[in-house]
Amino acid sequence: MKTSFYTLVILALLGTSACSDSDNSTDSSAAANDTSADSGSGDDASDAPDDTDSNQVGPNPDYFLAAGLAENITTTSCTLTDGTTTQCYKVVINGAPANAEIGPFCPSNITDDATEGGIWFDGSGEVYPLEGQFFVDVKTLYGDDWELYDEDTGEIHVTDTQVACEAAARPNVAAEYQNHCVQCSISYYDGGMQQTILIPVTPVPMSNPETIGADLGVSLNGVVIAGPAPVTQILAANTIAAFDDCGGHVNPAEGYHYHASLGCSEVVTTIDDHANLMGYALDGYGIYGMLNADGEEDYDLDECRGHEDETRGYHYHAASAAENMFIGCYQGAQGSIALN
Ligand SMILES: [Zn+2]
Ligand SMILES: [Zn+2]
Repeated sequence: MKTSFYTLVILALLGTSACSDSDNSTDSSAAANDTSADSGSGDDASDAPDDTDSNQVGPNPDYFLAAGLAENITTTSCTLTDGTTTQCYKVVINGAPANAEIGPFCPSNITDDATEGGIWFDGSGEVYPLEGQFFVDVKTLYGDDWELYDEDTGEIHVTDTQVACEAAARPNVAAEYQNHCVQCSISYYDGGMQQTILIPVTPVPMSNPETIGADLGVSLNGVVIAGPAPVTQILAANTIAAFDDCGGHVNPAEGYHYHASLGCSEVVTTIDDHANLMGYALDGYGIYGMLNADGEEDYDLDECRGHEDETRGYHYHAASAAENMFIGCYQGAQGSIALN
C-alpha cells in the first residue's frame, strides 16, 4: 500500500515537472527533486526548492500537482481578513484530486467487505471502516432506532441518485432519506467543481488566533480542505455521511472536499524526520501530516495545532481523522475560497 502510493506520488511529481510550465517556477525539475533526499547536489537554493529552503515560509506553488489545477498558479493582489492588502497566490482547482480516485463511500450490502466502502468518523475518537457489518453494528453504537438496511435482503439504504443525495446531504434531511448511508457521485457535478483559492504569498501573523470556517485550505493534490463535518446534525437524522479512504466526500454545494488527513495529499516528502507537507491553510501557513518519520506526534503544538521550526517557520500539523478536524484555528490573516 505505501510502496504503491509513493510510486504514484513520484510518477505524479515527474509528470508535473514534465508537463507544467508554471509562471512561478524557476526550475522544472524542482518537484521531482523533492523526493531525492539530497541537499548536496548544489548550494543554489533557487535551483531546487525543496522544503528545506531557508526563508521559504510562505506557500511554494511548485509543490501543487498540475493535474489538480485548472490553470497555472499566478499571483494577484488581494485583501486578507484583517484588511491587509497584499499579494496572494491564485490557486484554481479542478475539484477532483490529481492523484487518487474518488470513493467508494457506502457499501451496498451487509455482506460487503471494507473494500466496498470508505470510512466514517464522528469525532469521538474512532475511525470506522464502512464494511457491511458496520451497518448491522450501528444499533449498538447509536441506538435501536437505526435501521440502515433491509433485514430480508441485507441491502443497505444508500442515496444512489442525485435527488436522493441532495435531499440527504443537507442540514434538514428529508424524512424519506433518514436511516440512509449518504453518498453523492462527483459525476453529478461534471467530475468536479472548480474553485479559486487565494492564499497570501507572505503569511501575516495575527495577535489573536481566529476560528476556522466551513473551508480552511487547499491540498497539494487540488482538493478543498474543509472544517469539521457536522456529525451532530448527520447523526440526528440517523444518517452516515460516508467518507472515502482519503477522508473526502462529495458535498452538493461545493463538490469533493476533505474532512481528514489520511496521507493522500502528502505529495512532498521531507528530507528530515519531519512530517510531510499536505497542503496550505488559507492564511498561507503549511499543513503537514500528523506524525513524523518515527510515527510520533509533536508535543509542542499550540491551540491551532501549529508550531515553529527553523526550516519551515510557523506551520500546522493535521489532527487524526478520528478527531474530525485538521487544525484548531488560524494564526494568520486569511485569503479566500470561492466557487468559480
Ligand atoms: Zn463535507
Ligand atoms: Zn512541525
